[in-house]
Order: sequence, then structure tokens, then C-alpha cells
Amino acid sequence: MDSFEIQKNSEFGRYLIATRDLQPGEYLFEDTPFAIGPKARTSCCCLECYCPVLGTASGSRCEKCSWPLCADCSKLTKLTAHKRECEVFQAAKCKFYNLPDPNVSCIQLDCITPLRVLLEREADMDRWNIEVYPMEDHRDKRFETDAWDADQQNIVGYLLGPCKLKDRGITEEIIQKVIGILEVNTFEAKTIKGYSIRCLYTKLAISSHSCIPNTTHAIHPSDNYKMHVRATTVIPKGSQLYSCYTYTLNGTMDRQQHLMEGKYFQCHCERCSDPTELRTHFSSMKCRDCLYGDVDSSNPLDAEAIWKCNKCPMEIPAESIRESLKALQNEIECTNSVEFLEFSLEEYEGILHPNHYIMISMKSALIDSYGHMKSYLLAELPDILLHRKIELCEELLSILDIFEKGMSRARALMMYELHAPIVLYARSQYDIGHLTKLEYLEQLEKARRILNESREILEWEDENVCTAKAFSLKSLKYLDSLIVNVKNCEEL
Ligand SMILES: [Zn+2]
Ligand SMILES: [Zn+2]
Ligand SMILES: [Zn+2]
Ligand SMILES: [Zn+2]
Repeated sequence: MDSFEIQKNSEFGRYLIATRDLQPGEYLFEDTPFAIGPKARTSCCCLECYCPVLGTASGSRCEKCSWPLCADCSKLTKLTAHKRECEVFQAAKCKFYNLPDPNVSCIQLDCITPLRVLLEREADMDRWNIEVYPMEDHRDKRFETDAWDADQQNIVGYLLGPCKLKDRGITEEIIQKVIGILEVNTFEAKTIKGYSIRCLYTKLAISSHSCIPNTTHAIHPSDNYKMHVRATTVIPKGSQLYSCYTYTLNGTMDRQQHLMEGKYFQCHCERCSDPTELRTHFSSMKCRDCLYGDVDSSNPLDAEAIWKCNKCPMEIPAESIRESLKALQNEIECTNSVEFLEFSLEEYEGILHPNHYIMISMKSALIDSYGHMKSYLLAELPDILLHRKIELCEELLSILDIFEKGMSRARALMMYELHAPIVLYARSQYDIGHLTKLEYLEQLEKARRILNESREILEWEDENVCTAKAFSLKSLKYLDSLIVNVKNCEEL
């Protein structure tokens, strides 16, 4: 830990400071989760591998305790994740109640992750005292919410009463603290099979939040969900290390709301304080009066502040902006078809800035379609759509260059998406004589640079969950041999 240290003040609580200049990609620390388990308000799932299991009477169950366990996991002779709670449920004769309807969320499972934290606390009291107990739980703020009462009944009451944790010296206060710590600090992770779970990491939670983070983390489900944290950009000595607790590709209004509701704080980062979101215009609407100005919030840190045009006297109340955005979002949520997305992008041009987060989310959906969806597979795409995919990836990349600067996974995945259409488009253009051999080679070298940068970043990912990692290595070898072949062959 020579590269950073923990400091403390009243504004940020605990935070991390670089003790020397850090370089992009520099390894900072690893973190092993204190506990992992199902997310809150999840649908019914296996308590060992988290695959979906029917919550109704016909669903597969653990023979010992009757709680959900998939058929495969039921055959295992040694359980890991479910082991300790299974013993608690057996001893207390706590049965799982079958759900009347398979589609409702399974609130009974809300107690599982807190229970696992409590059982791990018994097993490793030192780590609990040093790393978990000091974590933020925002008790005062949570106390005023409806969720507090629901948790009090579903989790605190259930664990102390039917599960008999009272006999083990657990108190209501400890359980509410655990629930708060989980709510404020857990990170979402995916199992090797792609199911979402939550993990409680103790070290990463110390780094402060920013909507323009300077660190990145890779979670390795195949190595007990170990997390590896690295710098993404140059971090000068004395600067804070930041990770992002929300989605960088949401607009300021949504990010602020998500952080306030889930993490109980208002973000004042450089991006949140700037109405143009660092000149990206990620939340800017087009002015319907003068038709060329941008309409932005006069104070993005105040959800009720008036929105103003930067070219004419037009003003719009925040409430109307929220309503129009909601209507637009509802419109695009109904379908993901390529034709509809392209049509909507054109249609919204007069309402939203081309970089508006709604436009960017549609562009991102198109990137996921072109090259991946049936009848739009990469090899089938005509030049015009290959070109379109290149254009969309470059637009997204220019946004990510600002919000997730440097060696971030988001940039790596976008660069991975970008390299293949560049190769295919260049080849096709060369074949019909629109590119000279030299220009063709230049395009191939460009694709190689992009792919190589992507590969360097993806190197840190768990290949069991990041398919792009394995493919990027293969594609790089292919591209190298293609470049040699083109260099060696005669000009057409
Ligand atoms: Zn299972
Ligand atoms: Zn069991
Ligand atoms: Zn922010
Ligand atoms: Zn205007």
C-alpha cells in the first residue's frame, strides 16, 4: 500500500489519497468480499448458484432446510454459499413459504445476505471490527424511510424471532446496521453463468464517489469474487482516488436521484456541478423557441431549478422537463427494433441534443444490435451499416473518453466493438477500389491499435465472464496475419 493512504475528514468520512503520482493501469489493491448473496427484492433463486428457481410449490428445494436450491446444487455433497444458513434454518425449523405466484418478487430471500454477513461476523470478528463495523450505514436517514419499516418486519423480526438469532447475541441494532451497510456499500457482480448478485467489499467502499471516476475494478467470479482495483488515468500525488457508485451513462438528474435514494448523499463532482456535463451536453434539450439553443438546468445540484435556453430568453420549469423526458423514455422502452431506434433518433433530433443520454442509450442499443442481432450479423452487414456502426461506436467512445477516461472497461468494450467494422468496411472499400492498398493498410493498422488498447485493459478481466477478453486476443492474431498478407500481396 505504498501508492495511497486512508485519510479522514468530516466532509467525506474516510477516503483514499495517492501518496505518489499513479500511472494509468497501475494496480492499487485487491478486495475479497466479506459476504456475497442475493440482491434485495430479487425473484426466487438458488441459494448456492443463484440461478432462477420457481418460488411456487413445484420449485426445487434444499432437502435439509426446504429453502430454494436448484436441482444441480441439491445433488452437491458439499455446499459453500448456502451451508451456514442451512444449518441455522434447520436448527430453528425455519421453513421457506412457497409463493402463490411465480412472478412476484421473493421478499423472504431479503434476509439471506444480511444473515450471511451476521454469520461471517461470528466467524471472523476481527475483520468485522476492523473493516465492516466502521462502514457507513446512514442509520439516521434510513430510519425515516418506508424501507426501514419493511426491513424491520421482513428481516429484523424474522432473524431474531423464527431464526432464533437472539439466542446468539444478535440485536436489532446490529441487524439494522448490517442492512444499512449492505444497502449503501454493496456492489453488483455477475456469477459465471451471468446471474446478478451483491457483494460486500470493504476496501473499495472507502474510496470516494465521483461521476468521473479515476479507478476501475474488475470482479473475478471464478476466484471467489475477488476484486482488483486499478488507476485508469494519471492520478497526481495528493489527489483522491474515486470510484463511481452509480451509472456514468445516466444524466445528472438520474444520477443525483439514484445516489440520494440509494446512498443518501448529493454528489458535487465537477460533472454534476456543470449544466453542460463537461461540455458533452449529456442532459441538454433543444430549445423549441429559437430552435438552435441548448436548454440546460440553471443549477444541476438543485432538482427544482429552472431550465434556461443559452441563446434566447426561453425558460422551462424542472417539472416539465422531467415530464417530457419520462414520456420520451416510455416511448422508446416499448421496442428495441433497429428500425424503430433509427427512426426515433431522427425524430428526437429537434428535442434532444445528439449527446443527450436518451439519444446515447438508443445509440448504444443500436451498437448492440448491429453485428450481433439476427439478420444484422457482422458478416451480413452492408457497407452503409458497417459505416453506421463505426460512426456510433466513435460517438460513444468520445463520451466515454470524458466520463470514464483512460483505461476503463467501458472504453475497452467499446473499442472492441469498433475494431471489427473498421476492418470489414475497409476491406470492402478496398475490394471495390475506393481505397488504395496504402489506405487499406492504414485502416487495418488503426483497427489494430484500437483492438490492442482494448486487449490491454481487458487483460484484467475474468475470462469466464468477459468473452471479449478471449476474442480480443484471437482477433489480434488474425489482424496481424491479415496485415502481413496485405503487405505481401500485389496492388490490385
Ligand atoms: Zn444452484
Ligand atoms: Zn438448506
Ligand atoms: Zn457527480
Ligand atoms: Zn432558445
